[in-house]
Amino acid sequence: MTMSDIAETPQILEPAPGLFVRQAVDNITWADMGDYILVVDALEQADLEDEVVGVIERTVGDDPVRCLINTHTHYDHVALNEAFRQRYDTEIINKATSEIPDEGRWFTGPRRRAVMTPMVGCHTDEDCVVWFPEDRVLLVGDIFGWGIIPLVGRLNRDSLRLLEDTYARLIELDARTVVPGHGPLCTTLELRRWVDYLHGLIGTIQAACRAGQSDERILAETAPPDDMHHWWRFLKWKHADTVQKVLRSVRRGVL
Ligand SMILES: [Zn+2]
Repeated sequence: MTMSDIAETPQILEPAPGLFVRQAVDNITWADMGDYILVVDALEQADLEDEVVGVIERTVGDDPVRCLINTHTHYDHVALNEAFRQRYDTEIINKATSEIPDEGRWFTGPRRRAVMTPMVGCHTDEDCVVWFPEDRVLLVGDIFGWGIIPLVGRLNRDSLRLLEDTYARLIELDARTVVPGHGPLCTTLELRRWVDYLHGLIGTIQAACRAGQSDERILAETAPPDDMHHWWRFLKWKHADTVQKVLRSVRRGVL
């Protein structure tokens, strides 16, 4: 079974006791805080409401979902916001509509705690990550995309620096489990690997351009690393997309 199959069949995973992820193309996470439930991200399809509420109640009981964090407010992270609000009077928290201090907002309960921290600019200007320090589980939203450059804007020296700085902060946390916004869960190793991959690609493409190679040849010959072939949808399109973006930025002289 390849990793693309994994995401197409939703799976309920429990990376720490009482902390669950419905892993699919769009991921939703919920945590038993002890006397309430915290949810992170709210999917793309509103018609998943009954299924999602059902699995939350089956796994962590019927405490109220008091808080729902959106890592950012793209349409594929917010579809169930309103459903939760109507069922449980849930507080919806995201950087577009709430004030989140730079040092983060803590959520505490008798069983565990989590902190939501702004790390803006890698994907949107409202990106936040959620960290469960005792569980060592880190939710990064769309900052990590299994090989994709997460930037909505252009890759250039400034945005590369921002990616590097943000990834250094994420890697520093030393999470045991990393939950991306989409697709399979991973670990800190994949965060490190992606930064190395991007640096490697930039070096290779800069050298090829200096050597006078054509775009066609660079696109055709810049191979995906062997150890990343199994990355989710990486061979299908993400590697080629990344090569194209890096090449364009190198040719423009902004990398
Ligand atoms: Zn997004």
